[in-house]
Amino acid sequence: MEVAGSAQRFPVRRIYCLGRNYRAHAIESGDNPDETPPFFFMKPRDAVTDYRDGFPYPPMTSALRYEAEMIVALHSGGRDIDPADALDHVYGYGVGLDMTRQDLQEIAQGLSRPWAISKSFDKSAPCGPLYPVETNGHAVTGRIWLSVNGEIKQDSDLSLQRWSVPEAISILSRHYELVDGDVILTGTPENIGLVVKGDVINVGIESLGEIEVVVT
Ligand code: MN
Repeated sequence: MEVAGSAQRFPVRRIYCLGRNYRAHAIESGDNPDETPPFFFMKPRDAVTDYRDGFPYPPMTSALRYEAEMIVALHSGGRDIDPADALDHVYGYGVGLDMTRQDLQEIAQGLSRPWAISKSFDKSAPCGPLYPVETNGHAVTGRIWLSVNGEIKQDSDLSLQRWSVPEAISILSRHYELVDGDVILTGTPENIGLVVKGDVINVGIESLGEIEVVVT
């Protein structure tokens, strides 16, 4: 991944994604957030693409969904990381998209099958540059928003994440040994929706800039 203001690249290892990490999105997705915590799924490493390359409309779907998300990149890891130490492992933060083949997801959900085919397809995570902690600090609060063709669709704040970044790292590290290069997509706020070929998606996070992704 690109690093803002640098020729250096961040080598991505694994991509962990958080599901239903904002209360209002959990509710719109049919969860009772008082009873059902967020959860994890994964994308392959090469799902991450440069937002400047645009987003090719994927095959096998006629319901392509956007999800604005903050990316967290780790420069170190471990097992059973204490939440109090978790931010020490963060290299930087960025803006990204978790693109979803919604029709395939609904079929999978209806049959209690895995989500992989709806979430883990080629180029499904167009991302902006990473902003290193050492120059930009930690992104813990701040507006996260998404527009389609100039119309605001998603508008929330990082402080509304159900599992904060330290909690997410800590919980994930109980399931996997985290290693440098691991990346977490931290979930999308409410008001997800669909896009079609030709749409222009803008995603921004206060302090992490804005990306513009054209659906081609
Ligand atoms: Mn998502």
